[in-house]
Amino acid sequence: LLSPDGAVAPTIFAEMSALAASTGAINLGQGFPDEDGPAEVLEAARQAIADGVNQYPPGRGTADLRLAIAEHQKRFYGLDVDPDTEVLVTVGATEALTATLLALIDGPEDEVVVFEPYYDSYAAAVSLAGGTLRTVPLRVPDFQPDLDRLADAVTDRTRIILVNDPHNPTGTVFGADVLTEIVRLAERHDALIVTDEVYEHLAFRARHIPVATLPGAAERTLTISSAGKTFSATGWKVGWIHGPAALITAVLTVKQFLTYVGAAPFQPAVAVGLRLGDAFFADAAATLAHKHDVLGAGLQAAGFTVFAPQGGYFTLADATAVGGADGAEFCRTLPERFGVGAIPLAAFLPPAHRADPEYAGIVRFAACKKVSVIDEAVSRLARLR
Ligand code: PMP
Ligand code: GLN
Repeated sequence: LLSPDGAVAPTIFAEMSALAASTGAINLGQGFPDEDGPAEVLEAARQAIADGVNQYPPGRGTADLRLAIAEHQKRFYGLDVDPDTEVLVTVGATEALTATLLALIDGPEDEVVVFEPYYDSYAAAVSLAGGTLRTVPLRVPDFQPDLDRLADAVTDRTRIILVNDPHNPTGTVFGADVLTEIVRLAERHDALIVTDEVYEHLAFRARHIPVATLPGAAERTLTISSAGKTFSATGWKVGWIHGPAALITAVLTVKQFLTYVGAAPFQPAVAVGLRLGDAFFADAAATLAHKHDVLGAGLQAAGFTVFAPQGGYFTLADATAVGGADGAEFCRTLPERFGVGAIPLAAFLPPAHRADPEYAGIVRFAACKKVSVIDEAVSRLARLR
């Protein structure tokens, strides 16, 4: 995890955000919204601070937030979750994921099956936990997995199948066929499923199906989500995980020595958010879909080949036709040359696959920005033609 000179290597998101800032470019790299979330949620955080909710919360998270998470899972997905034993509040989805892998992976004989490209923290966390990463490629252009390759990857050595749905960076939403096969393989090889569903409310061209709702899944599935994306509050770092009580206890055992607890005044605010009416959630997905449409049309007009996403913050586009056959190099120079920041798909691939021809020219653009900002970015990119 260190750079060759022994310094901490910044994540690609930090590197590209710094580059965008130093060149004054519009940052469509790192995924964070440029507008605040719902006023009620922001006000609840202000109120909590004013009311003195500023000391350590309980280790599992406040009772009311755990209840709100359980109610949310029932309301949207029909899942029965015990807020006292089956829910743990974490410092973002990132901590939920890392604590889970540290808790459940014993050593290199434990394999974690991950779909590739993958969110960068997955490989890092598997490595910290001392496990072995096994990847299954998502095919260009639909970024769905080949089910035969998936079946080959899952064996009796598989400890965890790690799912991210809706998917970052590809925008893919897995259908019932893929998810059912994941559950079948996990059952057959007695593996656990860890599913990162931080974009659960931001699927727009396909319906999001939580893995835990499939027959046979709940007893072997840990479901992770976060307030960051749903409530446009990525800096609050309130996440959570739910699943079978014994597994949650194992994750808590690690979590208590990573951060102990976090975000006291934001926990009641996130509870308010999870209890907002259905219209808020539907509107969040529809608004984001519109932004993707504007971004996708602009990129297409600028000469990119666009892969329309089904969910999440990001649109992938192939830059080969506009001089970006090497997507990593393209993203390094784009801010200076055209005033726009993006992230190469290579950042989500293991080093051995970064130059694979089907992936090399693909770059990721964040759509979670004001339409006026996206308009300006694509008009700058139009000069690429
Ligand atoms: N998983 C995925 C797929 C993400 O895109 C992100 C954030 N970009 C995270 C996890 C991290 O979430 P959090 O900020 O809540 O830790
Ligand atoms: N998840 C966000 C992204 O994919 C950023 C996360 C980060 O900066 N670590 O852009």
